Amino acid sequence: MKKLLILSLIIILGSFIWVTAKFINFIEPGSVTPTIHVQPFHGMPQETQDYVMKELKKMYPYVELEKPIALPQSSFYEPRKRYRADSIIAYLSRITPRNHVSIGLTAKDISTTTKNSKDWGVMGLAYRPGKAGITSTKRIKNDRQYFKVVIHELGHTQGLPHCPVSSCYMRDAKGKNPLDQEKEFCTKCKNHLVAKGWKL
Ligand SMILES: [Zn+2]
Ligand SMILES: [Zn+2]
Repeated sequence: MKKLLILSLIIILGSFIWVTAKFINFIEPGSVTPTIHVQPFHGMPQETQDYVMKELKKMYPYVELEKPIALPQSSFYEPRKRYRADSIIAYLSRITPRNHVSIGLTAKDISTTTKNSKDWGVMGLAYRPGKAGITSTKRIKNDRQYFKVVIHELGHTQGLPHCPVSSCYMRDAKGKNPLDQEKEFCTKCKNHLVAKGWKL
């Protein structure tokens, strides 16, 4: 009798755990605020990593700094001696756990294919929406400017498209460097991020 009771208890408990796990699995995508992994690549100065962390923590509650890693060798583009941004974000996306977003920081030059160019140098690139983005300090003057690129790419991962407001962080750089004109997220972009747990 006692054995039967214990067995029934185990079955009830087991079913409860199974249903709970299923439920968490069901509600997880999009409804839990993701953790942002700041992922430096080798050669990124410590001060820049610290600056990005300090500023990002003011805007978003869950941010973690990862240990520096090497850029994937497969992303190296021999003809221009630089790294393919699309290949880097594919790599970052693969190594990023579920319900996390990775933003890569590199000092190397990065590039992607555009309408008019096979290999076009960029300041950053990200999935929209998605789990990964990459940013480069190569075309940037200072940490303040660089942080704007970081949050622009993170904005893309959160689903934001380019924005027509010239002072908004989501402005399209269009091959130039308009970063000093960007002051904040405009109201529309801000509202989109606040709904996703950003503290703006
Ligand atoms: Zn963009
Ligand atoms: Zn905007």
